Amino acid sequence: MLDLTGTRVVAIFAHPDDEAFTIGGVLSAFADRGAAITLITATRGEEGEIAHPSLATPGNLASVREQELLDAAAILGISAVRFLDFRDSGMFGTEANQHPEAFIQQSTASVAKKLASILEEIRPELVITFSEEGGYLHPDHVHTHESVVELARLHPELIPHLYYNSIPREFFHELARQDQGVFAGMSEERWARMGQPLAAFDLVVNVEPYIDRKIAAFTAHKTQQPKEGERNFIEEEETRRQFAQNEYYIEAISNPDTPDPLLRLAEDLERTPS
Ligand SMILES: [Zn+2]
Repeated sequence: MLDLTGTRVVAIFAHPDDEAFTIGGVLSAFADRGAAITLITATRGEEGEIAHPSLATPGNLASVREQELLDAAAILGISAVRFLDFRDSGMFGTEANQHPEAFIQQSTASVAKKLASILEEIRPELVITFSEEGGYLHPDHVHTHESVVELARLHPELIPHLYYNSIPREFFHELARQDQGVFAGMSEERWARMGQPLAAFDLVVNVEPYIDRKIAAFTAHKTQQPKEGERNFIEEEETRRQFAQNEYYIEAISNPDTPDPLLRLAEDLERTPS
């Protein structure tokens, strides 16, 4: 197994649980190889769902989700979790979008400044964040992407390698077609922008040895699990195979002067039998 001791990786996402499913395998694989991983999360997800009333109330959801994230981070081997302390902006078109402390109400320049002070401390070799549509167009995901783009523009020296993570549009459409509940009523225009086309990805990382760990991290977010009677996707073999086995990355910045940790990891995973 490749030794990545001393390599510093930063993942920048919006809510507790964004780290678990789409990048959890890569983060676990980095951790197993000795890399130090810092997860920066913009909000505590206080506008999220509550799977069961015994788990949290709207009033304490932020602190409950903070603990859930720490539990998930421990499972994935993340070394440090940092919060930007903004408020969850909620789903597209909800009242929470307008809250003055909502993440999307902060300028990308001010978010980039906050991120820069953390990155100056860490000096990562690799940064991973959402792609431009933020997976499924959640306003906080899109705003995270735009803030990181601004950060890279202002401080290119802080990001030697930058990758965007997303979900193949083809899988997403199939899942959403089956599950009219969550995506019913979405406009054609938004529908067409879900995920990224398979052909857009530069790197598909096979993380099969880490599927169980990803699922354990995902289920550590207890408040975010399906409610009673709702469909539980991760219990379905085919969905698991499509979503959990591979992780999908678009290369945004690649500094030829420093080795690319994600590329090295992907090559190592190809070599190492599971
Ligand atoms: Zn999210």
